[in-house]
Amino acid sequence: MRLDDKVAIVTGGGTGIGKAVAMRLAEEGVKIVVAGADVINTPYCQYESRSIGGYTAAKEVATELQNNGHDTIAIKADVTKYMQVQELVKQTVASFHRVDIVVNCAGIITFRYVSELSEEDWDSVMAVNAKGTFLVNKVAAAQMQKQGGGKIINISSIAGKRGSSGLAHYTASKFAVIGFTQALAKEVAKDNITVNALCPGIIGTQMWKLLSRARALPGETKEQSYQRNIRDLIPQGVPQTGEDIAEAVVFLAVSDHVTGQSITIDGGATA
Ligand code: NAD
Repeated sequence: MRLDDKVAIVTGGGTGIGKAVAMRLAEEGVKIVVAGADVINTPYCQYESRSIGGYTAAKEVATELQNNGHDTIAIKADVTKYMQVQELVKQTVASFHRVDIVVNCAGIITFRYVSELSEEDWDSVMAVNAKGTFLVNKVAAAQMQKQGGGKIINISSIAGKRGSSGLAHYTASKFAVIGFTQALAKEVAKDNITVNALCPGIIGTQMWKLLSRARALPGETKEQSYQRNIRDLIPQGVPQTGEDIAEAVVFLAVSDHVTGQSITIDGGATA
């Protein structure tokens, strides 16, 4: 297989899109480091509790993969902490000797109109989505430079392509991911490293469950809100899947001359 024995780190790999990516890359013969954080010891959190269970979920995914014969480990890492990101790459190299692919899926969202948006909301979302992308890319690119190449894939969003009410801070963070991706792609192009972004539309992960509740109209259930958002936003009338994103990850992981791009997978939402 084209990706046999490559080594990938998937941040936020225990849940949602990250889990689908970890599963798909493993099918391609890739050794997977499933990264996640259980407790966020900063104000940077979308959840009501600082215990987010991302590392516990990452360990479950790693166990599932191991049980299916794949070479996999789980590593604890909060992407907002430089030292933890350095340790993530260090431990990956200690276990598997290199890092060929990094898929940066860690991300958070909150829903607030700018009139109600606090500094903490802004800082939280920017810290995970924008700064987290910077830290993971910085440390991964340094390792890839030493090895002679690699592929970095950042998960942005359709919110990285156009503004959305109630999501100004999230939108800004996802535009940041695309801008950062373009700039870093140019900086490391001569090092045989590609850097790209993927922009999903709507995928029914825990993130969209949270958003469906926040965007519900009076009297609407979370599920009704989710279905209405799909009808209103997605011309195809159906959500995308984690597998759609994972397929695009495989494409970018085998493509040597695609770099600095942000590929949208949104059922026509931004067409
Ligand atoms: P998700 O909540 O399942 O995944 C996010 C992951 O990030 C979780 O595993 C969470 O534990 C982890 N995480 C949060 N803060 C972290 C931190 N500080 N350090 C390490 N990990 C942290 O939701 P998802 O939908 O799978 O989201 C994955 C990515 O896709 C996110 O970047 C999100 O913005 C993006 N995205 C999702 C959608 C969608 O419709 N679901 C659409 C566009 C973009």
